[in-house]
Amino acid sequence: MNTKKNKIRNAKLWIFDADDTLWESGLYFRRAEEDFISLMQSLDFDSDDLRSEIHRRDIERLSHTGYGARPYMQTLKLILEERVAVVTPYMLDSLAYISNCLLNHPLVLLPGVLASLEKFFSANRRMIVYTMGEEDHQMDKFKRSGISRYFDHCTIVPMKTKETMIELLASAGIAPDEACMIGNSPRSDINPAIACGVNAIFLERPFAWQAEQIEFAEPGLVTTVTDLLEIVSLTGLW
Ligand SMILES: [Mg+2]
Repeated sequence: MNTKKNKIRNAKLWIFDADDTLWESGLYFRRAEEDFISLMQSLDFDSDDLRSEIHRRDIERLSHTGYGARPYMQTLKLILEERVAVVTPYMLDSLAYISNCLLNHPLVLLPGVLASLEKFFSANRRMIVYTMGEEDHQMDKFKRSGISRYFDHCTIVPMKTKETMIELLASAGIAPDEACMIGNSPRSDINPAIACGVNAIFLERPFAWQAEQIEFAEPGLVTTVTDLLEIVSLTGLW
């Protein structure tokens, strides 16, 4: 058995990203974007031009706002205010509706999540959720997910970095190569894990957010799956 597989098999701590790893998230951001573009089209703005501006400003803001639904909505509001001479109550109401849908979206678990967590749990594997964004919004989703009982706790940071991963491992009392990080983002989940020596499993999902798509720091160290149940069979533990 190769070393990478062996390390994954023997991992003492399983660290799960949440958004688009355990449950749908990007889908609701795309819906918010489409609704905003529809609103702007109704005001005679060009959709392609807007879409590229949203994506550009979304990436620009990350370094000073961190991740989250509210900062994203703030970007949309700024674009509206900059482009429209007189912002009317109709526009603000529409924006408030889009924001409400995004902040309170349903918690839909991804395929294979429940069955996989059940297997890990019954094998007494220690699991935590490690997610980024705004504390109250992420914790609200964690509580609504119905799967919180499987995890020791949920750690929320504004942005995932090598340093936040080191802090996480220290608080868990686990050496890097005894941990396994599972996530859908090369930028936020995989590369910080690799940089610390944590085993990394990349969950490949369609429609990944543009800002999160960068090259793996060391592709040879990454295991790629398309479904969490693949990890269960990959490890051969159950
Ligand atoms: Mg994610």
